[in-house]
Amino acid sequence: ATPLAMIASIGAGARRGLLIKGGKYLEALNRADVLLLDKTGTLTLGRPEVTEIIPFTGFSSDEVLALAASAERYSEHPLACAVRDAAKVRNLPFGDPEDFESVPGIGVRAWVNDRLVAVGSRRIILESDSLSSLPDLEAQGKTTLYVVCDGKPAGVLAAADTLRPEVPAAITEMRRLGMQRIELLTGDNKRTAASVAEGLGLYYRANLLPEDKIAIVKEYQTKGHVVVMVGDGVNDAPALAQADVGIAMGAAGSDISIEAAHVALMREDWTLVPELFRIARRTMGVVR
Ligand code: ADP
Ligand code: MG
Repeated sequence: ATPLAMIASIGAGARRGLLIKGGKYLEALNRADVLLLDKTGTLTLGRPEVTEIIPFTGFSSDEVLALAASAERYSEHPLACAVRDAAKVRNLPFGDPEDFESVPGIGVRAWVNDRLVAVGSRRIILESDSLSSLPDLEAQGKTTLYVVCDGKPAGVLAAADTLRPEVPAAITEMRRLGMQRIELLTGDNKRTAASVAEGLGLYYRANLLPEDKIAIVKEYQTKGHVVVMVGDGVNDAPALAQADVGIAMGAAGSDISIEAAHVALMREDWTLVPELFRIARRTMGVVR
């Protein structure tokens, strides 16, 4: 394509809410055959709500929630907001966390009233008997958050997030536009990932840390694939930067992910993703 055609396309993108940071990304979009998708905040709205609280022996459900909300006080993760909202609804007191520490893709840890509280994925605890009796929350597509107090499992919270309504149609369209392999990459647990992925007919990989997502992008690139990745959070920024085309979802995405991405969607609207591909096709004079 001519430089003029590129500039025209970047302008056309901007009018629709697509911030395309250079003509080379339009070229890469035309060669792309692998599409990688983050789950939380990208495929889903990223506004999870706590639906269940399951205390273990020695703890009440209010106590588990209050401990979790206190530890999550300074986290910006959507799950942290869900936990704080649930505690507020029940009028539970928040403790003031000290030595707050956030571990990307895993969870948070802080001292709350002289107790060490950790909240996060199953990775934060070792296998424990309390876990075998849990109801099948993950098979329902819910994210489970484990709460550990002074090294003892205190309980589990389940949170449910909602799929963005435009996602199924957008994925069908992306297949039509030539994506050979579409894969969900998530830090969430395997069964939650499976429940979301299977509904959309996607491949998936779960329990991923931010560095695992980068490694997967590289793995496809080494095999000669051209990779598009769509993500939102701070955690996704390095993988978005590594992709041939990294797309940051929505104005609510973190500044870091918008900065790292090659294309930013200025509206949280999945119809913009196939639209981006169509703009790229037209620029290169490729008609499909
Ligand atoms: P995704 O890849 O789906 O966007 P993340 O990488 O942000 O998810 O998080 C992966 C998992 O780590 C979550 O499903 C959750 O179990 C855990 N986690 C991450 N941050 C937090 C937090 N602030 N509080 C509790 N759990 C968290
Ligand atoms: Mg995310």
